[in-house]
Amino acid sequence: MTVNELNAIISSSKKAVFFGGAGVSTESGIPDFRSPDGIYMSKQKYPPETMLSHTFFMEHTEDFWDFYRNMLYCPDVKPNAAHFKLAELEKAGKLTAVVTQNIDGLHSAAGSKNVYELHGSALRNYCMKCGKFYTADEVMSVNGIPECSCGGIIKPDVVLYEEALDDDIVSGALNAISNADTLIVAGTSLTVYPAAGFIRYFGGENLILINRDKTAMDSAFSHIIHGKVGEIMEKIKL
Ligand code: NAD
Repeated sequence: MTVNELNAIISSSKKAVFFGGAGVSTESGIPDFRSPDGIYMSKQKYPPETMLSHTFFMEHTEDFWDFYRNMLYCPDVKPNAAHFKLAELEKAGKLTAVVTQNIDGLHSAAGSKNVYELHGSALRNYCMKCGKFYTADEVMSVNGIPECSCGGIIKPDVVLYEEALDDDIVSGALNAISNADTLIVAGTSLTVYPAAGFIRYFGGENLILINRDKTAMDSAFSHIIHGKVGEIMEKIKL
């Protein structure tokens, strides 16, 4: 598919939905997981999938926080052309929702209003004992395990492996996807479940993939562009 064809489909859409992953934020300087320079390729004490699990958080809380601070927290990042274009499309009445697997908050920072953050947000942290919330700055500035004023342990408000997604976010996201006339999937290897399975709820005509590399699900799409999502979305004119 060409960018002009993508432009034509988006222009004629009234209820497009965008479903994205870590690749949407690589052009903002945040590494993804599975690219050659991704977090999964870095040398760690334990495999990253293990370190990002609920069990690991509970049993090795300090190692979790070290890994999370050093590898997953990217301060001062800014939205890129993809984030800004999606906010513009929503404002123009073309796009109804962004469903993201990312935890970086960049869609909201770019101005998108209806954002479903399936895996939570690194901008929020909460005390596991009293529920008090803390900002990223508050927890990132301490060494070791961040503790609440009540003595409880603070956890990022992100969904770790073995943890369930939030019911309201899931139903909002699935409702938007199943009512969409166009679904644009981008920057995701489509390997993290249940999120990757959400695209099966789309019943419309145009199922579009914009991704740098091939995914295991390429054959499911009606239109594909292999390339950088920021560079491609920047060319969309309304
Ligand atoms: P992934 O790392 O498994 O795959 C990223 C995909 O994006 C790859 O297929 C790659 O080819 C593609 N890609 C990379 N840069 C791109 C670009 N500029 N344009 C188009 N495509 C590009 O990521 P995933 O499928 O999202 O799964 C990883 C999980 O990790 C997610 O659940 C997410 O929660 C989390 N994660 C989030 C962030 C973030 O918040 N920014 C960063 C890393 C990981």
